[in-house]
Amino acid sequence: MSRGEANYCRMCGHAMERRIPPMEDRDRAVCPSCGFIDYVNPINVVGTIPVWNGDHVLLCLRNIEPRKNFWTLPAGFLEAGERSSDGAIRETIEEAGAHIELGRLFSVLDVTYAQQVHLYWTARLLDTEFDPGVETIECRLYRFDEIPWDDLAFLTVRRTLELYLAHGHEPRTHYGEIVWGQRKW
Ligand code: ZN
Repeated sequence: MSRGEANYCRMCGHAMERRIPPMEDRDRAVCPSCGFIDYVNPINVVGTIPVWNGDHVLLCLRNIEPRKNFWTLPAGFLEAGERSSDGAIRETIEEAGAHIELGRLFSVLDVTYAQQVHLYWTARLLDTEFDPGVETIECRLYRFDEIPWDDLAFLTVRRTLELYLAHGHEPRTHYGEIVWGQRKW
Protein backbone atom coordinates (compact mmCIF):
# COMPACT_ATOMS: atom_id res chain seq x y z
CA MET A 1 0.00 0.00 0.00
CA SER A 2 2.85 2.36 0.69
CA ARG A 3 4.11 4.39 -2.18
CA GLY A 4 7.68 3.91 -3.30
CA GLU A 5 10.06 6.38 -4.79
CA ALA A 6 10.98 6.35 -8.46
CA ASN A 7 14.22 4.61 -9.46
CA TYR A 8 14.66 6.95 -12.38
CA CYS A 9 14.19 10.70 -12.56
CA ARG A 10 10.76 11.80 -13.69
CA MET A 11 12.29 14.90 -15.28
CA CYS A 12 15.40 13.62 -17.09
CA GLY A 13 15.46 9.80 -16.74
CA HIS A 14 18.77 9.63 -14.81
CA ALA A 15 19.09 7.04 -12.01
CA MET A 16 18.03 8.54 -8.67
CA GLU A 17 20.24 8.53 -5.55
CA ARG A 18 19.30 8.68 -1.89
CA ARG A 19 20.66 11.62 0.05
CA ILE A 20 19.63 14.41 2.38
CA PRO A 21 18.94 17.45 0.18
CA PRO A 22 20.44 20.80 1.26
CA MET A 23 18.45 22.55 4.02
CA GLU A 24 16.42 19.41 4.72
CA ASP A 25 16.44 16.89 7.52
CA ARG A 26 15.71 13.53 5.92
CA ASP A 27 16.80 11.15 3.20
CA ARG A 28 15.05 11.53 -0.12
CA ALA A 29 15.45 10.26 -3.68
CA VAL A 30 17.40 12.97 -5.51
CA CYS A 31 18.45 13.16 -9.16
CA PRO A 32 22.23 13.81 -9.33
CA SER A 33 21.86 15.05 -12.90
CA CYS A 34 19.10 17.68 -12.78
CA GLY A 35 18.57 18.05 -9.02
CA PHE A 36 14.91 16.90 -9.01
CA ILE A 37 13.78 15.71 -5.57
CA ASP A 38 11.12 12.98 -5.45
CA TYR A 39 9.03 14.01 -2.43
CA VAL A 40 6.83 11.16 -1.25
CA ASN A 41 3.91 12.55 0.76
CA PRO A 42 0.84 10.82 2.18
CA ILE A 43 -2.15 10.36 -0.06
CA ASN A 44 -5.74 10.96 0.95
CA VAL A 45 -8.44 8.31 1.00
CA VAL A 46 -11.94 9.80 1.08
CA GLY A 47 -15.24 8.03 1.69
CA THR A 48 -18.67 8.07 3.27
CA ILE A 49 -20.80 6.36 5.90
CA PRO A 50 -24.06 6.03 3.92
CA VAL A 51 -26.88 5.50 6.42
CA TRP A 52 -30.46 4.51 5.65
CA ASN A 53 -33.35 5.04 8.03
CA GLY A 54 -31.01 5.84 10.94
CA ASP A 55 -30.23 2.18 11.57
CA HIS A 56 -28.70 0.67 8.40
CA VAL A 57 -25.33 1.32 6.76
CA LEU A 58 -24.36 0.62 3.15
CA LEU A 59 -21.31 -1.60 2.71
CA CYS A 60 -19.59 -2.71 -0.50
CA LEU A 61 -18.02 -6.12 -1.10
CA ARG A 62 -14.66 -5.41 -2.74
CA ASN A 63 -14.02 -6.85 -6.18
CA ILE A 64 -10.36 -5.75 -6.26
CA GLU A 65 -7.21 -6.35 -4.27
CA PRO A 66 -6.20 -5.54 -1.64
CA ARG A 67 -8.84 -7.20 0.52
CA LYS A 68 -11.00 -8.56 -2.30
CA ASN A 69 -14.17 -10.22 -0.95
CA PHE A 70 -14.17 -8.12 2.22
CA TRP A 71 -16.67 -5.41 3.10
CA THR A 72 -15.83 -1.72 3.02
CA LEU A 73 -17.45 1.66 3.23
CA PRO A 74 -17.36 3.34 -0.18
CA ALA A 75 -14.00 5.14 -0.37
CA GLY A 76 -11.03 5.72 -2.61
CA PHE A 77 -8.15 7.98 -3.51
CA LEU A 78 -8.75 11.71 -3.76
CA GLU A 79 -7.93 13.06 -7.22
CA ALA A 80 -5.70 16.08 -7.85
CA GLY A 81 -7.77 19.22 -8.25
CA GLU A 82 -10.72 17.71 -6.42
CA ARG A 83 -12.21 18.84 -3.11
CA SER A 84 -12.08 16.08 -0.52
CA SER A 85 -15.85 16.20 0.07
CA ASP A 86 -16.48 15.94 -3.69
CA GLY A 87 -14.12 12.97 -3.82
CA ALA A 88 -16.12 11.23 -1.11
CA ILE A 89 -19.34 11.72 -3.09
CA ARG A 90 -17.66 10.55 -6.31
CA GLU A 91 -16.33 7.38 -4.70
CA THR A 92 -19.78 6.62 -3.27
CA ILE A 93 -21.26 6.90 -6.76
CA GLU A 94 -18.45 4.93 -8.43
CA GLU A 95 -18.43 2.05 -5.98
CA ALA A 96 -22.09 1.84 -5.02
CA GLY A 97 -24.11 3.96 -7.43
CA ALA A 98 -25.78 5.28 -4.30
CA HIS A 99 -27.65 8.57 -4.07
CA ILE A 100 -26.63 10.45 -0.95
CA GLU A 101 -26.87 13.74 0.85
CA LEU A 102 -23.45 14.44 2.33
CA GLY A 103 -23.30 15.32 6.01
CA ARG A 104 -20.36 16.38 8.15
CA LEU A 105 -16.74 15.29 8.18
CA PHE A 106 -16.85 12.46 10.71
CA SER A 107 -13.44 10.78 11.00
CA VAL A 108 -9.87 11.73 10.14
CA LEU A 109 -7.53 8.77 10.59
CA ASP A 110 -3.78 8.77 10.06
CA VAL A 111 -2.41 5.51 8.67
CA THR A 112 1.25 6.45 8.86
CA TYR A 113 2.61 2.99 8.00
CA ALA A 114 0.70 3.07 4.71
CA GLN A 115 1.47 6.76 4.07
CA GLN A 116 -2.23 7.63 3.98
CA VAL A 117 -4.79 9.87 5.65
CA HIS A 118 -8.38 8.59 5.57
CA LEU A 119 -11.35 10.96 5.77
CA TYR A 120 -14.96 9.81 6.13
CA TRP A 121 -18.13 11.90 5.93
CA THR A 122 -21.54 11.05 7.28
CA ALA A 123 -24.11 10.62 4.53
CA ARG A 124 -27.85 10.07 4.32
CA LEU A 125 -29.05 7.65 1.67
CA LEU A 126 -31.87 9.19 -0.37
CA ASP A 127 -33.14 5.83 -1.64
CA THR A 128 -32.17 2.16 -1.71
CA GLU A 129 -31.46 1.92 -5.44
CA PHE A 130 -27.80 0.91 -5.87
CA ASP A 131 -25.72 0.34 -8.96
CA PRO A 132 -22.33 -1.10 -7.96
CA GLY A 133 -19.35 -0.30 -10.18
CA VAL A 134 -16.65 -2.68 -11.38
CA GLU A 135 -14.72 -2.41 -8.12
CA THR A 136 -17.68 -3.78 -6.16
CA ILE A 137 -19.13 -7.31 -6.21
CA GLU A 138 -22.28 -6.25 -4.40
CA CYS A 139 -23.69 -3.55 -2.13
CA ARG A 140 -25.79 -4.35 0.88
CA LEU A 141 -27.55 -2.46 3.64
CA TYR A 142 -26.53 -3.84 7.01
CA ARG A 143 -28.50 -3.19 10.14
CA PHE A 144 -26.15 -1.64 12.72
CA ASP A 145 -26.34 -4.80 14.85
CA GLU A 146 -25.54 -7.05 11.86
CA ILE A 147 -22.34 -5.39 10.62
CA PRO A 148 -19.90 -8.15 9.53
CA TRP A 149 -17.06 -7.02 11.82
CA ASP A 150 -14.86 -10.03 11.04
CA ASP A 151 -15.12 -9.48 7.31
CA LEU A 152 -14.35 -5.76 7.08
CA ALA A 153 -11.64 -4.80 4.60
CA PHE A 154 -9.69 -2.16 6.50
CA LEU A 155 -9.03 -0.96 10.03
CA THR A 156 -10.05 2.57 9.11
CA VAL A 157 -13.46 1.20 8.11
CA ARG A 158 -13.76 -0.70 11.38
CA ARG A 159 -12.67 2.30 13.47
CA THR A 160 -15.01 4.65 11.62
CA LEU A 161 -17.98 2.30 12.06
CA GLU A 162 -17.17 1.78 15.76
CA LEU A 163 -16.97 5.54 16.26
CA TYR A 164 -20.19 6.05 14.33
CA LEU A 165 -22.17 3.54 16.36
CA ALA A 166 -20.88 5.08 19.61
CA HIS A 167 -20.87 8.76 18.68
CA GLY A 168 -22.75 9.18 15.40
CA HIS A 169 -25.50 11.17 17.12
CA GLU A 170 -23.01 13.77 18.40
CA PRO A 171 -22.00 16.73 16.19
CA ARG A 172 -18.30 15.87 16.35
CA THR A 173 -15.40 15.05 14.08
CA HIS A 174 -13.07 12.33 15.35
CA TYR A 175 -9.32 12.21 14.89
CA GLY A 176 -7.21 9.11 15.40
CA GLU A 177 -4.35 6.96 14.23
CA ILE A 178 -4.22 3.39 13.03
CA VAL A 179 -0.91 1.84 14.08
CA TRP A 180 0.88 -1.12 12.56
CA GLY A 181 0.31 -3.48 15.48
CA GLN A 182 -3.46 -3.18 15.09
CA ARG A 183 -3.29 -4.89 11.69
CA LYS A 184 -4.66 -8.40 11.68
CA TRP A 185 -3.50 -9.35 8.21
ZN1 ZN B 1 16.84 14.38 -13.29
